[in-house]
Formats: sequence, C-alpha cells, structure tokens
Amino acid sequence: MTTENIRCLIIGSGPAGYTAAIYAARADLRPVIYEGLQPGGQLTSTTDVDNFPGYPQGIQGPEMMEDLKKQAQRFGTDVRFGIVTKVDFSKRPFLVEADDGKILLAETVIIATGASAKWIGLESENKFRGQGVSACATCDGFFYRKQDVAIVGGGDTAAEEATYLAKLCNKVYMIHRRDELRASKAMQHKVMNTPNIEMIWDSVPEEVLGDSSGVNGLLVKNVKTRETRKLDITGFFVAIGHNPNSEVFKGQLKMNDAGYIDTVPGSTRTSVDGVFACGDVQDHYYRQAITAAGTGCMAAIETERFLSS
Ligand code: NAP
Repeated sequence: MTTENIRCLIIGSGPAGYTAAIYAARADLRPVIYEGLQPGGQLTSTTDVDNFPGYPQGIQGPEMMEDLKKQAQRFGTDVRFGIVTKVDFSKRPFLVEADDGKILLAETVIIATGASAKWIGLESENKFRGQGVSACATCDGFFYRKQDVAIVGGGDTAAEEATYLAKLCNKVYMIHRRDELRASKAMQHKVMNTPNIEMIWDSVPEEVLGDSSGVNGLLVKNVKTRETRKLDITGFFVAIGHNPNSEVFKGQLKMNDAGYIDTVPGSTRTSVDGVFACGDVQDHYYRQAITAAGTGCMAAIETERFLSS
C-alpha cells in the first residue's frame, strides 16, 4: 500500500463533485477526485437534460457529465477511477483508503457521493430505463406532456411528483401497494383533489410493456384480488424513495435516520471540521443537478477558507 498526502480529496463525481473540483482546482487546492461506483453519477443513466441552465437545446446526461469532467481536468483536477472503502475522520489529516490500494492522508474531504433511486426490481423496468421509465418526474415529466403516465409509490415524493405530472400530462395513474398513502395529510389532500390523478390502491407494477420506440403500457396487479390490469401509458415513474450513498461514513459523521449526512444549515459543513458534504448525499429535498452543483461550489469555497484559516 502506498501513502499519499492530499490537500483536498473529493469523493464522488456527479454535478456536486465536479463543481467542487472546478472551484477547488481554480483555488490551487490540487483536488483529487475518486469517481466512485457510477462515474458521472445519476445523470449518466438519464437521456435528455432540459433543465440545467445554459443548454438552450438541452443536453444528454452522459455528455454533460463528460463536459464537467473535462472542465475539472482543465484546471488540473486529478480524476481517479476508484472507490473509497474506508475513512477515519477521528483526527487530521483524515485517513482514507481506496480500492486502488492507496492510503490517502487528506487535509480536507468533500463528500459528493450522491444518492441512488430505489427501483422496483422488474426486468422490464430496467430494460426501459431512460426510454419511458424514470425515477425523476421533475427531470423527465416534460417529455410526457399531454400523455398518460403512471407513478408508483405512496410517500411524499410520489404524491408531489404525481401532482407535478398532473399539470403536464393528460392522466396520471398513482399506484400504491396499500390502501392508504404514507404521504403527509396535506399532500394526500392535493392528490385527492387533482381530478386527473386516478389512484390504483393495493396494487403493484408487474411488467412494463414496450417496444423499440419506448414504453406503451404497464401491467398492474391487485395484491388483494390478484387481478391484473393493463394501463395504456407511455411514461412510468418510480418514486419509492432514495438511498443516500453514505454507508462508508457511518459512525464517522452525524446523519439522519435515513442516512443523509447532516450539514450546518446554509453551509456544507458536517459534524467534523474539515469534512464537507454536498449534493444529494445531504439533500433529500431538491435532488436536482443544479442544486447539487450549487452546493458543490459552496463546499469548495468553504474548504478553501478552512484551509487558509
Ligand atoms: P418514503 O417516505 O420512504 O416513501 C416510499 C413509498 O414507496 C412508500 O409509500 C412505500 O410504500 C413505497 N414503496 C417502497 N418500496 C416499494 C416497493 N418495492 N414497491 C412498491 N412501493 C414501494 O420515500 P419518499 O416519498 O421519497 O420520501 C422520503 C422522505 O423525504 C420522507 O421523509 C418524506 O416525508 C420526505 N419528503 C418530503 C417532501 C416535502 O416535505 N415536500 C417531499 C418529498 C419527500 P409503504 O407506504 O407501503 O411503505
């Protein structure tokens, strides 16, 4: 194992990680970024990104992440393919192990490991991901304007996304596995008072139907009657929650019950001085590329000030 001293270690390579890298590199912090399990992050599994400012014609998710990477490298960011496997934040420099066999002694750490959407686990759901199956209505709802879509989930996210979709789409089927929503009462009222949302209770998606041009239907099974119904839809949204990618930091940083890293409001500071968290790993609310990029910028500026204080 080789040991290496690093001024600013960034873990994760989504919009938060790369934005932090761009700012940190330009501030001469010589950042090293470990890309993680999914280099480029969640946007690499999307197609069109139409809501990131600065792209009037939209851009493909993987292309945008490649551009961000190049921009970070242009200022000297050392981008490494690899995963951080262990951290010890009990003293500085922080001790970090990576799967490339390196032991890193980091003066500061920016965590930008993101979150992963939960999926139902159907083979057909995986097959049509990005071609009619999405885990983000805010990102992809626009592509289904005036069409019929379905969303699965019964929590606040599903309720919020169903009402968002209802404004754009002709009809929204909201599928929930029980006969009562988990969402807050206020969100439940919103759903129930939206005329083009039809609740499908006690049901689970069984198969996403489609062909080479994308999704064209969904089989839904009622778990009580065992009957299966076919919905004629072109978009299928999964909103059954996210998992923050924070496992490796458990026991080292304060987190909430769901595993999102606690940050001091209005900053990216964590419970350990010198460790900053940005993007979806500390944000279960906005979860957008642009907000992740914004907090990535904050993390780099805070890191720079921390190092010079
Ligand atoms: P959540 O509260 O965990 O809800 C997940 C939903 O998906 C539940 O209804 C669950 O069903 C269902 N589900 C889970 N696994 C499933 C599966 N395999 N098949 C079918 N259905 C499945 O997640 P969330 O809605 O993303 O919310 C996460 C947190 O963020 C919550 O604390 C929420 O209140 C908060 N949030 C707040 C707001 C807001 O305040 N505006 C907006 C969004 C999120 P069961 O109900 O049967 O378990």
